[in-house]
Amino acid sequence: MARIALESVDKVYAGGVKAVDGLDLEIADGEFMVLVGPSGCGKSTALRMIAGLEEISGGTVSIGERVVNDLAPKDRDIAMVFQNYALYPHMTVEQNLAFGLKLRGVSKEDRRKKVLEAAKMLGLEQFLDRKPAALSGGQRQRVAMGRAIVRQPQAFLMDEPLSNLDAKLRVSMRASLSQLHASLGVTTVYVTHDQVEAMTLGTRVCVLREGKLQQVDTPQRLFDHP
Ligand code: ADP
Ligand code: ADP
Repeated sequence: MARIALESVDKVYAGGVKAVDGLDLEIADGEFMVLVGPSGCGKSTALRMIAGLEEISGGTVSIGERVVNDLAPKDRDIAMVFQNYALYPHMTVEQNLAFGLKLRGVSKEDRRKKVLEAAKMLGLEQFLDRKPAALSGGQRQRVAMGRAIVRQPQAFLMDEPLSNLDAKLRVSMRASLSQLHASLGVTTVYVTHDQVEAMTLGTRVCVLREGKLQQVDTPQRLFDHP
């Protein structure tokens, strides 16, 4: 677990689009911060700069005590889940969940233990032997989340992870995500354009507009004083 801090962060894309403009944001240890705003406001760009998937044009991004501007994603100790599940199709659920641990040299016994823990948390125990093609969309997204959290990263980043799911599944997945966060307490940054999702999930919500921070507060206070 770690705090994440953005100080005067800018992103200017080739061609001159200023996608993120002087963003200051401090995300506390264990917080669930939602970045919300209309399409094109810079949410995804901000998240990708935290993840190390996008070069930072100005300012600093810190995770824990370290400035991570020039660190590769693998050296930032973060995990990310995207809207497209990006599971390995030829592997079973168990192998998908264990893969990151295997890469890091975790023993077979410890892998099994951690995978079972994550599977239990996400209600995937009965699907461990299945391949992704034999799962529903919601189950696949649970596997993607399980794969992200199983190695206990310092921060968990999600970019519109529920937007490919139907409305009913989105609601049940929100509940699962809240439970997952409550039991792990991992610092989480979550991007969505859906205001209800933002208000339901966030311990705080950051509203972006044209690359700038417009408001950041608890859902309750944003609701009372929009
Ligand atoms: P959001 O996630 O809020 O929809 P994005 O961060 O994807 O917003 O985009 C912010 C702005 O940056 C938009 O104007 C978008 O067109 C632009 N943008 C995003 N990615 C690129 C890119 N790779 N090259 C150029 N412009 C981009
Ligand atoms: P691990 O289990 O070790 O996190 P992954 O295979 O999930 O490994 O991801 C490896 C790297 O690829 C990570 O840095 C992750 O952010 C990135 N990554 C994973 N899926 C995608 C995707 N769909 N698009 C872009 N980058 C991705």
